[in-house]
Amino acid sequence: MPARILNGTAIAAEIRASVQPGVADFTTRAGRPPCLGIVLVGDDPASEIYVRNKVKAGTDSGLQVDLQRLPSTAPLADLLALVTRLNDSDTHDGILVQAPLPASMGRGASQQVFDAISPDKDVDGFSPVSVGHLVQGRARLAPCTPSGVIELLERSGIPIAGLHAVVIGRSEIVGKPMAMLLLQRDATVTICHSKTPDLRATAHTADILVAAIGRAGFVTKDFVKPGATVVDVGINRVTDAAAAAGLFGEGSIRMGEFERRGSAVVGDVHPNVAEVAGALTPVPGGVGPLTIAMLLKNTLAAAEGRRARR
Ligand code: NAD
Repeated sequence: MPARILNGTAIAAEIRASVQPGVADFTTRAGRPPCLGIVLVGDDPASEIYVRNKVKAGTDSGLQVDLQRLPSTAPLADLLALVTRLNDSDTHDGILVQAPLPASMGRGASQQVFDAISPDKDVDGFSPVSVGHLVQGRARLAPCTPSGVIELLERSGIPIAGLHAVVIGRSEIVGKPMAMLLLQRDATVTICHSKTPDLRATAHTADILVAAIGRAGFVTKDFVKPGATVVDVGINRVTDAAAAAGLFGEGSIRMGEFERRGSAVVGDVHPNVAEVAGALTPVPGGVGPLTIAMLLKNTLAAAEGRRARR
């Protein structure tokens, strides 16, 4: 039986609808809407799209979104000064600095920016204080993508407690916080990465398999225990026709789309996993929309948190 497809778009719409009354209520009480400051450095095309979607989603939900742009040539000091200004601002409730930063800012730049963002406004949940709270199970603002995955599983009625969850990927923004959130819901968690020997065999023991790797179609059906829930966090653009044919199959609908557009967005999970998984998140339309929904939720939580601490 083919896998149940977990519709992230529909669940994200539910979350966004649940945020809207809170935004309206905050706006009435505070005399202004919750305000999200987004910083975009440079002109990376993918980042432009992500930021455009975040601005639109925020504005549609009644937030004030303040987009601040810096040129790709800006030194790190300018970015840190902008973060300080947003930290000190009375009206900005949340701050998000879009990744990736230009390579010219240096290797440790992202970490310096995470260190600089006020934990009260850290809607991405990447500051060391936010990470500490997350590890201690008392996160106020948890990273959007992994907390979106938890919402997706819970709202889809997929149990977590007592199950074996395998997370492939150990990044600060997805893999590690994902593992923590699953652990807090009483899963037994294994974290795999690029140095894990026999990754396939470990993945095959998972009841819940989360792929956050950044490699198109990496997780094939031989990684997956029959009936397992597979969450595909990956977002990869494929432009090579042979690679696309290997993923979608000649003559398929998705191959037709690829031929018309010259590219396609695919996850880290091969589409043939649908033949063995019990449930599967699609790409696009799975985890991606939830990331933005959770950003809206975090911005409202940050605004309410700041108001309560006044
Ligand atoms: P990253 O590059 O920071 O981390 C990738 C991780 O995968 C690393 O920990 C690495 O150890 C592991 N890895 C790499 N090659 C591997 C291999 N051969 N075997 C096992 N593990 C391997 O990436 P990230 O920021 O965590 O993002 C991962 C994917 O998720 C990317 O495709 C990214 O675009 C996507 N993403 C999606 C969303 C969303 O909203 N859906 C949000 C963030 C990231």
